[in-house]
Amino acid sequence: MRIIIFGPPGAGKGTQASLISEEYDIPHLSTGNIFRSAIKNKTELGKEVKAILDAGDLVPDEKVVDLVEEELKNDKYEDGYILDGFPRTVVQAKAFDDLLKKNGETLTAFLQLQVPEQELIERILSRGEGRSDDTRDGVKKRLKVYREETEPVLEYYGEKGAVHKVDGTGSIEDIFNRITTILPDN
Ligand code: AMP
Repeated sequence: MRIIIFGPPGAGKGTQASLISEEYDIPHLSTGNIFRSAIKNKTELGKEVKAILDAGDLVPDEKVVDLVEEELKNDKYEDGYILDGFPRTVVQAKAFDDLLKKNGETLTAFLQLQVPEQELIERILSRGEGRSDDTRDGVKKRLKVYREETEPVLEYYGEKGAVHKVDGTGSIEDIFNRITTILPDN
């Protein structure tokens, strides 16, 4: 099963992706987690992307696509995965499509988590994860970047008829139950 979980910052992608990963026994690939861990470990990649993450901007497409392509070569992704935070631009979505085609693979589901904007801001400011980009200005910037650069990805997948909308409000469990009714039985 190959799944994309999509939505604005604060929609709960990471939380739901972890639950999906456990329930369906597929690895969770979060580009944001990869970048944060690279920054924490002060790797070459971390040094390259730190200022970008702090500013709430997007890492250049080529770098992200190369990273995901390399990561997905790992055997653990052979039977599927859940992508969280990627693709985040139409360029990335097209590159990911090409990669699937090249490998003779298909996407099982594109899940769009829907949460009202005011709730996103409140959730991020109260989640207290200590992320350097979780400030009021940081959130506003990431929402702006989301609307301008990431939202068009919806249209791209919408044209393929692949988008499943999921109400992202309510308890974590309620949201997860909505997701499991969409995904095929494992
Ligand atoms: P996230 O944890 O998904 O909210 O990502 C945190 C930050 O990592 C984003 O604000 C971007 O700076 C960067 N990032 C994560 N995924 C991507 C991506 N697919 N393309 C570009 N930048 C990304």
